[in-house]
Order: sequence, then structure tokens, then C-alpha cells
Amino acid sequence: MSRCLWCQGTVDMPMTFSQLFFEKPSEKRLCRLCNGLLAAVADSALKCARCCKISDKAQCEDCQNWQERYPDYPFMHKSLFYYNAFARDYMEKYKIMGDCELSLLFADELKGYFRPVLEHSVLVPIPITEQSQAARGFNQVELLLESAGLPYVKALNNVGEGEKQARKNRRERLRMTQPFTLEYPAVSRLEGASVILVDDLYTTGRTLFHAADALKSALPGRIQTFSLFR
Ligand SMILES: [Zn+2]
Ligand SMILES: [Zn+2]
Repeated sequence: MSRCLWCQGTVDMPMTFSQLFFEKPSEKRLCRLCNGLLAAVADSALKCARCCKISDKAQCEDCQNWQERYPDYPFMHKSLFYYNAFARDYMEKYKIMGDCELSLLFADELKGYFRPVLEHSVLVPIPITEQSQAARGFNQVELLLESAGLPYVKALNNVGEGEKQARKNRRERLRMTQPFTLEYPAVSRLEGASVILVDDLYTTGRTLFHAADALKSALPGRIQTFSLFR
């Protein structure tokens, strides 16, 4: 019997016929109750086609603004879950309090999402500053990917103000200056490649647009963005 990583309750594993006899069942990390607290982006009918934000327009106002500022980045942002109360509690416990075992919680979902595209894509996690890395002991995005067994390339450095930005309001965040520099020689692996920038949370989009802008000189074939939460 396995235990829910979040509430320690029992996880029941309904198995299909083929799982019972032929395949290894995928390990469930959340009990049914906790699983019900997640809001999957895929379940939302009303959302922006470019960034997944809940919106009754095909393209939300945020994306229209980004389009004006970065006309040559027609990229699509994908997310798995909305940043609801459960997601906030999760990020608090995992990222702020540093409970690194919780990196396993989304391992199956991340594996399921990225495995089909890995063959022709390179994952680049958003880096945190050296100060944040030293304080927390891990980069929360890299650990999510590692726990899902997904390879990635550390092509960026973060020389910005780091998580002081968490205390900034929306307007201040949007005004932030470029915090990313390229990491050599890793970045040479991105030339001509299809790159997916991976972050934990998409708030204003500022971080991912900065990261994409920084990567431009590495000449990737194309850039897409992804965050676990939207
Ligand atoms: Zn639970
Ligand atoms: Zn949008």
C-alpha cells in the first residue's frame, strides 16, 4: 500500500487489465482527495490559446501586450495545472520550506508530458540566483525534472535580484531588467534545436520572455515555454 505524498492518506491504485498483467502500473503520488484539489489546464474550456490563462478571448490581453513588445516571439506557453490554493500550498512547502521529497509529486505528469517531445527538444530550466541556490540547497525546477527522470541543459545563469522579485508587485515585476546570461559551453548545444524553457510558475511571463530573449544569441531553431503552474 502506498501513501499520499501530500496528506499521508492511503492511495488506492485502480489497475486496468493490461496493467495487471503486462505493464508496471504507474505509481500514484496523490490520494484521490488530494488529486481532486488540482485544477488541470486541460480541463478548462475557456483559456487563452497562447498562454493557457483562463480567458474568454482566443488571445488574452497579456499575450497581446507581449506580442507588441516581442513581435518575433510567436511562442506558445503550456502549463499542466492552474495556480490555485492547493498549488500555492504546494509551492510554499516545496520551494519556500524546502521539502524536496515533494519534487516527486508531479513526476508522472511531467514525464507523461515531456517524454513524447524529448527526442526532438531540449529542456532548459529557468535558473535561480547563486544566493537562492545556497539558501535552498536546490533549484526547484531542475529537481522537478530530475525526479521525473528528464534530462535538461543548464544553458542560463541568473545574475538578477532573484526572489526579491516575489515581494514585488505586478508592475514592478514587468519592469524588471534582464537577469539571465548564457552559460558556456552548454549553450552551444542549443544551436538549431527546439528549446523548451521550463519554469515552475508563470506569473506575468516576464521571466520567460527574458530567458527567451537571452537565448536568442544561441540561435535555437525555436523556443517554446512551459510552467508546471499557470
Ligand atoms: Zn492525499
Ligand atoms: Zn494569453
